[in-house]
Amino acid sequence: MTSSLEAPRVLLRRIREIMARPEAGEDRLDAIVVEIAANLVAEVCSVYLRRRDGSMVLFATEGLNKEAVHKTHLKRGEGLVGLIAEHADLLNLSEAQEHPAFSYRPETGEEIYHSFLGVPILRGGESAGVLTVQNQTPRSYSEEEVEALQTTAMVVAELIASGELAAGDVLDAEGRQNMALLNGISLSPGIALGQAILHEPRIIVTDLFADDVPRELQRLEKAMGKLRATIDDMLLGGDPSVSGEYRDVLEAYRMFAHDRGWNRRLSEAISTGLTAEAAVERVRNNTRALMVRQIDPYLRERLHDLDDLSNRLLRVLAGRTTAAEEGIPDNTILFARTMGPAELLDYDRDRLCGLVLEEGGVASHVAIVARALGVAAVGQVPGAVDYVESGDKVVVDAASGEIFVRPSQNVLTSYSDKVEFEARRQEQYAQLRDEPAVSQDGCEIDLQINAGLLVDLPHLDESGASGIGLFRTELQFMISATFPKAGQQTEMYTAVLEQAGDKPVVFRSLDIGGDKMLPYLRHAKEENPALGWRAIRMALDRPGLFRTQIRALMRAAAGRELHIMLPMISDIAEFLAARDLLDKEHQHQERHGHSRPTRVHLGVMIEVPALLWQLDQLLPMVDFVSVGSNDLLQFLFAADRGNIRVSERFDPLSPAVLKMLGDIVDAAERHKVPLALCGEMAGRPLEALALIALGYRSISMAPASVGPVKSMIRSMSAGDAAEKLRALLAANETDIRTHLESYAANYNIIV
Ligand code: PEP
Ligand code: MG
Repeated sequence: MTSSLEAPRVLLRRIREIMARPEAGEDRLDAIVVEIAANLVAEVCSVYLRRRDGSMVLFATEGLNKEAVHKTHLKRGEGLVGLIAEHADLLNLSEAQEHPAFSYRPETGEEIYHSFLGVPILRGGESAGVLTVQNQTPRSYSEEEVEALQTTAMVVAELIASGELAAGDVLDAEGRQNMALLNGISLSPGIALGQAILHEPRIIVTDLFADDVPRELQRLEKAMGKLRATIDDMLLGGDPSVSGEYRDVLEAYRMFAHDRGWNRRLSEAISTGLTAEAAVERVRNNTRALMVRQIDPYLRERLHDLDDLSNRLLRVLAGRTTAAEEGIPDNTILFARTMGPAELLDYDRDRLCGLVLEEGGVASHVAIVARALGVAAVGQVPGAVDYVESGDKVVVDAASGEIFVRPSQNVLTSYSDKVEFEARRQEQYAQLRDEPAVSQDGCEIDLQINAGLLVDLPHLDESGASGIGLFRTELQFMISATFPKAGQQTEMYTAVLEQAGDKPVVFRSLDIGGDKMLPYLRHAKEENPALGWRAIRMALDRPGLFRTQIRALMRAAAGRELHIMLPMISDIAEFLAARDLLDKEHQHQERHGHSRPTRVHLGVMIEVPALLWQLDQLLPMVDFVSVGSNDLLQFLFAADRGNIRVSERFDPLSPAVLKMLGDIVDAAERHKVPLALCGEMAGRPLEALALIALGYRSISMAPASVGPVKSMIRSMSAGDAAEKLRALLAANETDIRTHLESYAANYNIIV
């Protein structure tokens, strides 16, 4: 092995000397091709560079007709050179002319050459050019020769990136101008216009040559050790975000970090005279080529993992970490393959406006945090990270799930207009902030917000809402590493109440299960988790868990009123059992002399249809009720709320729903029990109009909906709308939505 490394070592040394010369870039390139030809005993060595339109131009040659330099152009994908550039993969041929892609250019005089070796000149994962050698006699180039040529291609990539090859529209570091349109699914609504930042910055290796091979080997070994340790930490550290697909990726990282083959190839590359960084890059380029060729999706995915891991190793070598630690510019749009919620929270919220993930579903924890932060986010965008460089302009349209990378001026202008329009609307909503939510005929509506994390709290003030109508306590549990201890829970609820000030907060007891799993809590796999062991069912089976939360809430609310709401109650017995546990906890607090809330209001969510026929028994026992229309409708229509193929098949404004919701209003009025509705429908202006027409006077919604709903309320007449809706239902109209839309249009109601 030692002797086979001798020639590459010499070549590298010579190229290094050339690079150090105070000459123009092109002169150095000319010298490099001469050197390669000599070292590889080839008659020809040429460099082709890629232009922005994808065509290739001959830029330097030893052996071919020099007159052809700058004149020979190959169309995108044309010839062997075009093929190499398109696939970012090498070609090693003993009879080049027999290859179907061979294209003969008379001006170059290359008809007499038989063997051909060409490697891509890679920059940031893209082909910036192609480096070739040719021989008259048919021969196959050895592995060492291939690697030597690849290493030299890295040097040429450096020359291109430095901008020293004054090459017109030849692709340079800034040259990736074509717009790319990517598609994914919306994780968090909004439009973001800004610049891409890679969550895990890509390191561009500039220091290629090393004098001290043993030192570089040592650096590699140390970095590798550190890399392995961080992966182990992530896997074993109990971070709840490390689950599902994220965990698979980490397992693959661990496997590769211990892979002997990879380690050997890296050491060998260093032995040819490369720095540890350059060695990682060189070996990585080979992986990339393999990745392009691989058609098996699983293996492709694993090669992708290895590519990611190389980047991690480079960052360890360079002493750099994530973009969060380095600080981000204004209007950052983060790109990541996958990310945990805690990692997203590490970023400066004021500078972050968008998020694009290759993985991640709507229910993923990072999506929950993105929504809480008000960051437009799109997930399941395959290969997103490969399409961008940090600093690229990006537009994220989370409504359509589209991402425009390096957008054209037209796209940019049209989205800037949208963003401006949205900003003006927000400005108008902000002006309504301190105005009451009172209809034209003087009917006052209590507007509250839904929340679940501390980062939601600023929205309470910003939106002008009167309180938090639904605090989803499980979110905090979902994003923390282990089950929050009693003390931590108390701390969290205390902070929520402190930040809410005088405004009331309705804490919903843990609604775990269904789509809200805690990875650290053992839970048998269920066929139908939405109908499974969740929410109050779990609380009653695990009273310790429930009581701990109640205790924390009572302590946090010492000296003030506390509102607790029970999710998924399906019969009276469940309510009574939960109330019993609550009473016990209250007595326990009293016995031990702990300060307690001045009053505990205990409410129930109406989200299981069976409860509708128990209201006359239930309502006299509760302090308030709130309709959870998300679950209530999914159970009413037997349509999974998380499955868009079925969730949008029914209309929340259909007569069945409106009659049911009207019956709840009647029952609450009969028993004089405060009633609210806190499902998503409360946040949509037309639905809110119908709710008010039905008699709902308190609704709770996502903070961003408060402005639009308030402006609708201020333009409507509650009495008129009630009459209209009554008439529509009495007339057995089926398409209530369309009728309400024209009613709103006729009466200038802003929906
Ligand atoms: C609901 O079901 O309507 C509700 C508000 O609760 P969640 O969305 O958290 O299930
Ligand atoms: Mg619910």
